[in-house]
Amino acid sequence: MTELALLGGSPVISTPFKPFRTMGPGEVAAVQAVVESDCLSGFYGSWGDEFLGGPKIREFEAAWAEAFQVKHCISVNSATSGLYAALGAIGLTPGDEVIVPPYTMSASAVGPLIYGGIPVFADIEPETFCLDIASVEANITEKTKAIVVVNLFGHPAQLHARRALAEKHGIILIEDNAQGPFATENGVFAGTIGHIGVFSLNYHKHIHTGEGGMCVTNDDRLALRMQMIRNHAENIVGPTEHDDLSNMIGFNYRMTELSAAVGIVQLQRQEELIGQRVHIAQRLTEGTKDLEGFTPPVERDGCRHVYYVWTPKIDPATLGISREVLVKALAAEGVPLYPGYVRPLYLLPAFQQRMAMGRNHFPFTLTNRVYARGLCPVAEEMHFHRLLAFETCAHTLTDADVDAIIEGIRKVHAQRHKLIPQAAE
Ligand SMILES: *Cc1c(COP(=O)(O)O)cnc(C)c1O
Repeated sequence: MTELALLGGSPVISTPFKPFRTMGPGEVAAVQAVVESDCLSGFYGSWGDEFLGGPKIREFEAAWAEAFQVKHCISVNSATSGLYAALGAIGLTPGDEVIVPPYTMSASAVGPLIYGGIPVFADIEPETFCLDIASVEANITEKTKAIVVVNLFGHPAQLHARRALAEKHGIILIEDNAQGPFATENGVFAGTIGHIGVFSLNYHKHIHTGEGGMCVTNDDRLALRMQMIRNHAENIVGPTEHDDLSNMIGFNYRMTELSAAVGIVQLQRQEELIGQRVHIAQRLTEGTKDLEGFTPPVERDGCRHVYYVWTPKIDPATLGISREVLVKALAAEGVPLYPGYVRPLYLLPAFQQRMAMGRNHFPFTLTNRVYARGLCPVAEEMHFHRLLAFETCAHTLTDADVDAIIEGIRKVHAQRHKLIPQAAE
């Protein structure tokens, strides 16, 4: 076997992988047709037929509803907007607590602050890195209004059990399914098991429209409230005679006809776009699952994982080297495996300094919750020491490329003893 690249040998992968490309002729034609129609948005911010958007928006929402077998779809200009709309729609009130994971994209956790709500961080489980059910339950109080659960990296987060938990306590379950389109749990689509599900269509996701998102729900009232928040609720609430004025100050979260037209085509191509990423991840798992101290991501019984990120977990004690040394050696071989995902979110300055809306520490003035290091030990252990991340959506990869990644991992694993003195340096 050749010398490790980190120690002067030649790397397994010497040319960087091609960035992903997902726009095809169908998307180009769809955009051209919208531009030629001269209707780039069909929305008006007042009550009437245009309150719900133009033809492409409606077509896209209907196609999404059919694909995910859900009653209402509300397109938005990002998943972040979608999460804010969802939290507004459920009537979140200052001081209400919302249980969120610390290990996710920041928007999943900071949304409650927009309405004066208090994010309460529960810990994650080490198998799938999603919220731990026992930790969620332990954090439920009479102030708890909702749980935001994230199907992290594309794995459904024990959604049926969590919905049952939410029903038992009379609280709302919101799924942040930005990373899990077409993931399933017991044959049901992730994103449709909570009271509301939010999908992302941003450039980095499996299916995308540049920027965009989709909220889904089977609840008529929540659907109407999200439609209102998307489009200047304060103007709509009079004519609709909607009886609940809470959070009926609207935003403009509207998607353009251009994005919707792209989304329609991307949705038709979902089997290909999701399938490619699942294929890459399963091949990586197959090629590395026998390595001691290196555990590829698991797929729970009854679940379909769609692998937005492929996340092996290492045991530094078994390997004899730290994750930092491993990552350095992998990078030298041309293998883009990153250490960890995002720092546990309670470590963000907003929580550390309890400063979000304005200068007077609102809404943290309404809570005694603390956001100290050590709050979620499993999330910290995974993030700082054990998790590795490969972004399956970031590259266009052939099987030969994937095999080169596997070869790089196996090469470093086999010769890791040579790195032990370096680890001690
Ligand atoms: C990408 C992402 C978001 C935000 O999506 P946008 O459409 O960019 O607002 C939210 N949550 C998770 C888990 C994500 O991965």
